[in-house]
Amino acid sequence: MTAERIDGKAFAARLRERVGEMAGQFEQWSGRKAGLAVVLVGEDPASQVYVRSKHKATVAAGMESFEHRLPADTSETDLMALVDQLNRDEAVDGILVQLPLPDHLDEQAVIAAISPNKDVDGFHVTNAGRLAVGQSGFVPCTPLGCIMLLTDRLGDLSGLEAVVIGRSNIVGKPMAQLLLDANATVTIAHSRTKDLPGVVKRADIVVAAVGRAEMVKAEWLKDGATVIDVGINRLPPAEGEEKGRLVGDVDYSGAESVAGAITPVPGGVGPMTIAVLLRNTLVAAYRNAGLDVPESL
Ligand code: NDP
Repeated sequence: MTAERIDGKAFAARLRERVGEMAGQFEQWSGRKAGLAVVLVGEDPASQVYVRSKHKATVAAGMESFEHRLPADTSETDLMALVDQLNRDEAVDGILVQLPLPDHLDEQAVIAAISPNKDVDGFHVTNAGRLAVGQSGFVPCTPLGCIMLLTDRLGDLSGLEAVVIGRSNIVGKPMAQLLLDANATVTIAHSRTKDLPGVVKRADIVVAAVGRAEMVKAEWLKDGATVIDVGINRLPPAEGEEKGRLVGDVDYSGAESVAGAITPVPGGVGPMTIAVLLRNTLVAAYRNAGLDVPESL
């Protein structure tokens, strides 16, 4: 058996198209474009790439992109003042502070300063709380993208055994919460889990969000399992290569012969993250304008 390849890139492209159409409708109804403000502090090369691609995707979806690039030595007072200004700016529906921040800045304090109604990353404790108690808020983009791929492939997740490997606040925990909301039976595994292969073996759904190259092996998987690989790991360059290959947390080539379906890396979960960010921003815009959020978002 060869697993079906879950094409996150194609799914994300369709989602972006839908968001683009609805961003046009939003503009007609409200008389303004939905707006996303992205704040980048310092010059971390990976963060610069992410911020650039978020800007391009926002503009391509017919939304306004406000970029704020601040020097690495920006004080917390100045960063907070900018966040406060963006909270009050009616042209800004979503605010994203690109992480990681330089060491002298307190990430939790900065996230806490963002208005929960503009927190399109879903990192604010208010939004984590809303997710935990089943109220509508903003859900972190990566796990929301994963649940979209899962329901698209499997439909109803009721009663399925799901194992999430990883318990970070931005991926593992919200992922588990979303699976629970979808009535899956959820186990969260982490670095202290005993017999991880045995735990994974019973899963109909495996979500790997660890950050360890090809850690999850084919033998760990139940036949026909649906595997969502969130990990992005760069291998050391092989001979003749300038850069090493990007791989996930799952040994894709082995898993392909056991799983029912699996996301590739790259081209699986990665493209979903930005598409969901655009979706969350447009949802924020509808809510902030007092309009009903279209169901197809
Ligand atoms: P974190 O480092 O915050 O969390 C990793 C989790 O994996 C922790 O809960 C840790 O357990 C667990 N873990 C570490 N080693 C093991 C092990 N040997 N066995 C079982 N569990 C283990 O990472 P993130 O959640 O932020 O990200 C995870 C991965 O997803 C990374 O590769 C990251 O690059 C990628 N990512 C991809 C995104 C995308 O858009 N596709 C977006 C966000 C992240 P413990 O808590 O016990 O330490």
